[in-house]
Amino acid sequence: MTSFDFDSIGKNIAEVRHTITRTALACGRNPESIRLVVVSKTMPCEIVSQALKSGIQILGENYIQEATCKAADLGEFPVSWHFIGHLQSNKAKTAVQLFDLIHTVDSRKTALELNRQAEKIHKCQKILIQVNVAGEATKSGIAPEKTQELLEEISRLDHLSVRGLMTMPPYEKNPESARPHFKALYLLGKTLEQAGISGISMEELSMGTTHDFPVAIEEGATLVRIGTAIFGKRK
Ligand SMILES: *Cc1c(COP(=O)(O)O)cnc(C)c1O
Repeated sequence: MTSFDFDSIGKNIAEVRHTITRTALACGRNPESIRLVVVSKTMPCEIVSQALKSGIQILGENYIQEATCKAADLGEFPVSWHFIGHLQSNKAKTAVQLFDLIHTVDSRKTALELNRQAEKIHKCQKILIQVNVAGEATKSGIAPEKTQELLEEISRLDHLSVRGLMTMPPYEKNPESARPHFKALYLLGKTLEQAGISGISMEELSMGTTHDFPVAIEEGATLVRIGTAIFGKRK
């Protein structure tokens, strides 16, 4: 890690924050309604701790085992851990122990297992529903038209609390191409809110990465998930 530019991390975070604020103000939103999830997957603890020293509040991780190791090493920092990777139900137990918010629930099976594990530790696990808004065959996420049914099932589970929706649109070079997908997630959130399912909140929209977060903010993101702009390209 000798070649890593530690000093740049603080600067990069400041720059991302500045872009969040500027974009929010330009579209008439309160910058404080948007939270930065710093995506630290594959980054070792020495590097992540540099970001933590810059006062970030949320770390996003994709792999359960990696996150568990990091949380043990970085326990001194008061940071909230979010899970943004694909969740296998055999990892649900560890997931509920560590994560304040799980962004990627997309099936009844995962929801049931998370509920079961959360019950064991007397926790109410906050989750988001990952939606495959573009209908990509290979992608994680539930189909938009099936989301309400899943929410109705989850609303019966006492140890899960749905806070909103998440999406990861198909990658295209022009970030503007993501706009219709972000818009679709926003509108789906509104529709589901109006469905008035008990115990379900639609306050959070997790959307936007390094590539397209300003567009996501313009379309209503409340959580942006950013790695590369902060740590540089992953190997
Ligand atoms: C890796 C990852 C990100 C961060 O992407 P960057 O392009 O590095 O900002 C965001 N969301 C998810 C789901 C990811 O897997």
